[in-house]
Amino acid sequence: MPRSAARLQVIRVPAPPRARRAAGERAPADSGDMTKRIADSITTAIVERRLMPGTKLAEQKIADIFKVSRTLVRQAFHQLSRDKLVSLEPARGARVAEPGVEEARQVFEVRQMLEAAMIRRAAAELAPAQIAELRAHLKDEEAAIRRTDVSGRTRLLADFHVVIAGMLGNAVLAGMIGELVSRSSLIALMYQSAHSAEHSFEEHVAIVDALEKHDSRAAARLMESHLHHVEQNLRLQPRFPDLAAALRPQ
Ligand SMILES: [Zn+2]
Repeated sequence: MPRSAARLQVIRVPAPPRARRAAGERAPADSGDMTKRIADSITTAIVERRLMPGTKLAEQKIADIFKVSRTLVRQAFHQLSRDKLVSLEPARGARVAEPGVEEARQVFEVRQMLEAAMIRRAAAELAPAQIAELRAHLKDEEAAIRRTDVSGRTRLLADFHVVIAGMLGNAVLAGMIGELVSRSSLIALMYQSAHSAEHSFEEHVAIVDALEKHDSRAAARLMESHLHHVEQNLRLQPRFPDLAAALRPQ
């Protein structure tokens, strides 16, 4: 591997689907699939805290990692920039986005609105098999926390919200929650979340208990307080305080 590509090795190239691997073929992915695979790999690297805000994403290096043209990498960057995970600037190229304080507040405000409504519906509609699936997800969260697998637990804790959205069968909702959760991961990296993984896990367990009892009011209250705790534990202050305010005579 050329040395220049080493720093972006945190972006993992996903393995081809099992069936193809068994047949020993290369995945004949079309360009749309490939763009999505590149975008998904970068998103996962952000959610798993392997790519930090502000990291430069060099087009050529990523093209080398995925063995594709720069055009496809650029398309993936555009997709990620629409989702606010990557910022594109003419002179600086692509970087992992650095969400501002106001943006962070707005993301959590929208999550409160959407996820309170989402969890109420989940409490009314989820079948026992889906509750069992959520219990299995919680087991995975707990196992990742026990073995202090930081990447794994971060992704699983984020996925909890996306999995519930997916169970409601509304692709628009699932897409929006997925985007907001990924942006929240970036926000947690920017503003050093002090909310512990154990605490989030316990709050998730309480939410699933309420879902199992079809108690939509309790589920909504628990989800609201969970998201509130996550936001409260961020240090949402500008990194570079306003100079005039900092130097104002007391
Ligand atoms: Zn959560």
